Amino acid sequence: MNTNTNKIALVTGATRGIGLETVRQLAETGVHVLLAGRNRDKAVEAALALQARGLPVEAIALDVTDATSIASAAQQVETRHGRLDILVNNAGILLDDPVQKVSGQSLETWRKTFDTNVFGVIATTQAFLPLLHRSAAGRIVNVSSLLGSNTLHSDPASPIYDFKVPAYNVSKSAVNAWTVQLAHELKDSTIKVNTIHPGYVQTDMNAGQGEVTVPEGARTSVRLALIDADGPNGGYFHLDQVLPW
Ligand code: NAP
Repeated sequence: MNTNTNKIALVTGATRGIGLETVRQLAETGVHVLLAGRNRDKAVEAALALQARGLPVEAIALDVTDATSIASAAQQVETRHGRLDILVNNAGILLDDPVQKVSGQSLETWRKTFDTNVFGVIATTQAFLPLLHRSAAGRIVNVSSLLGSNTLHSDPASPIYDFKVPAYNVSKSAVNAWTVQLAHELKDSTIKVNTIHPGYVQTDMNAGQGEVTVPEGARTSVRLALIDADGPNGGYFHLDQVLPW
């Protein structure tokens, strides 16, 4: 199914896990995908493996916590392609110490988590927004989590009620809030931005303990990356289900 051969996408944190699979699934539909990794060698290795399967993938170095790296990546995309159609802000970390209470996580944990999961998303988006405005239909997908839902964290009947990894959870709540703010700025443009929960996915982040496979976990990112002009802006989704903020 090669229906998107005229589109260019960039996926951050794509050296493994959900990001790598998102690259693969987008490329399977014909999208030319920039596989971004903070480690250039790992990104090149991952891109070569997909290229060997005939997929239109190229590697790019991008550390979302490094302003110089972000600026360099945006410059390279401008030089090579002149625009960007899809940005998937997928890179993320979970550093909370499971034996600590909510109030006991170190400030260093909070700062590092926010540097990657929140400021990394904002900085990357700021750098690529001019290139997304050059697209006929720019799409931004922010990979959040169900753990960013304050509604569910407040509900004793919710499955995540006792899952308090606070720096991670609050970072994802912030990504959701950022998505709503940016959607307002973009509401009269051709760009759409949405935030998603991939599912509880079997990746390194949870030592493979997730409930769903990695291919299943990439489906929501891919779905929101490929929405058409009738698609949502400023929503929070898992597959086609709307999630509570
Ligand atoms: P993962 O297997 O741990 O992969 C994380 C990816 O992020 C890796 O490629 C890693 O690169 C990259 N990364 C970390 N810091 C980075 C930085 N500063 N700059 C660029 N890339 C960086 O995690 P995953 O499960 O695939 O998670 C992907 C996204 O889904 C994350 O945002 C996560 O919060 C979200 N999510 C996951 C689950 C789940 O159940 N797995 C559930 C909800 C949401 P390296 O290879 O260089 O370390």
